[in-house]
Amino acid sequence: MAQSTDTNPRIYLLAPHLGDKEWALVQQAMASNWIAPVGPQIEAFENTLQDHLGPDAHVTALQSGTAAIHLGLLSLGVKPGDEVLCQSLTFAGSAFPINYCGATPIFVDSESLTGNICPQALETAIKARIKRGTKPKAIIAVHLYGMPYQVREIHDIARHYDIAVLEDAAEALGSYYHEQPCGALGDQGVLSFNGNKILTTSGGGALVSRSIQEKQKALYWATQAKSPVEGFHHNEIGYNYRLSNICAAIGVGQMGLLKARLTQKQALHHWYEVLFEARQGISLQQAPDSRFASNWWLNVIVFDPRLARCTPEQLSIAFAEENIESRPLWRPMHLQPVYQDAPYYGGSVAQNLFEHRLCLPSSTKMSPTDRERIAAVIQRMC
Ligand SMILES: *Cc1c(COP(=O)(O)O)cnc(C)c1O
Repeated sequence: MAQSTDTNPRIYLLAPHLGDKEWALVQQAMASNWIAPVGPQIEAFENTLQDHLGPDAHVTALQSGTAAIHLGLLSLGVKPGDEVLCQSLTFAGSAFPINYCGATPIFVDSESLTGNICPQALETAIKARIKRGTKPKAIIAVHLYGMPYQVREIHDIARHYDIAVLEDAAEALGSYYHEQPCGALGDQGVLSFNGNKILTTSGGGALVSRSIQEKQKALYWATQAKSPVEGFHHNEIGYNYRLSNICAAIGVGQMGLLKARLTQKQALHHWYEVLFEARQGISLQQAPDSRFASNWWLNVIVFDPRLARCTPEQLSIAFAEENIESRPLWRPMHLQPVYQDAPYYGGSVAQNLFEHRLCLPSSTKMSPTDRERIAAVIQRMC
């Protein structure tokens, strides 16, 4: 891989992008001595999230999106021996918590419009598992790269079979489906504030519950299941998952930038759109219709192998030679060695998307010079 030089600095797929308030907020948190997973910035951060998601979204700030999925599954009553349906084309953080619960993941194919969980494959999977006598306990649906999944179709099926939906909106803060904010659509919602997400707390996540009671239960599990009885009584197994006050201070500053970041992501998406307008056999992934409002966390290009002048691998290598990062899609979970024995329902859509698509650098921090370097590679290769 090419070394970074002054004339050729590395262009990252996604770089954290701080504003001018985070540093002062962190200093305030330090000065007040709230250097703990307790403190005023945690509640302030949760309130900014609730302002965005709506009054019925009860938010628990946690150390990661993965921890939020774990507690979300516990809230839905997932227990050892249960089965949980999960979109196969996703990051491993969506699926691993199923195993933390001692449950079994059942993977489901994607549809090619949004890249997310396929309604037909989902229904086939549900019917087949019910026939075996193991009705799944929950469905994990993901808004991949910020693009909402087919919410109405998926939630209709879930309601019909009375199975809860865990909405993995880790990549979709600021996305909307039918004007409703992603993260507040499922029975449980999950956000991530890892360093590569649209907003960051360095590492962090949030669980979005539907009621105050559910939030209180999640908070109890996240703080070592301490019962209110004096003297550290524990009736249940707990976890140490609460976000630190220092990280929450970063989050408060970042949430003030959400609108600005969404505008910047939209502009970058439009820039790529123009760049790919005239390229043969390669197009930018778009929303199926106006109900799907992506935050454009990552820009994804779609290769038609019969028409494109290069393969995703060739373009990726050409980028790497110029010290520019690009990335294949997430490798589907049903193709992972660790999940080789897990049941899978569907065909080869997820695998095809994985093989014929590529993620392009999508930092809001990119300079005009960075864009010129990216455009030069695309114009030469595509
Ligand atoms: C990032 C991510 C997660 C996990 O979030 P962390 O905060 O990194 O633990 C889960 N699901 C998806 C789809 C993600 O992109």
